[in-house]
Amino acid sequence: MVWLLRKCVKCGEYTLRKDRCPHCGGETRIPHPAKFSPDDKYAVYKGMMRQLKK
Ligand SMILES: [Zn+2]
Repeated sequence: MVWLLRKCVKCGEYTLRKDRCPHCGGETRIPHPAKFSPDDKYAVYKGMMRQLKK
């Protein structure tokens, strides 16, 4: 799903990391703004955590 991806603002690489770009260490942003309400956003983040934990 597209909202699981982050895009590095420095090198433009896509990553699943939520903090730093694994390529250049740059800041990562969500490439597409989610069309969710704040409550839904938390649900999205919970889903993300589940994905990343394994
Ligand atoms: Zn980068």
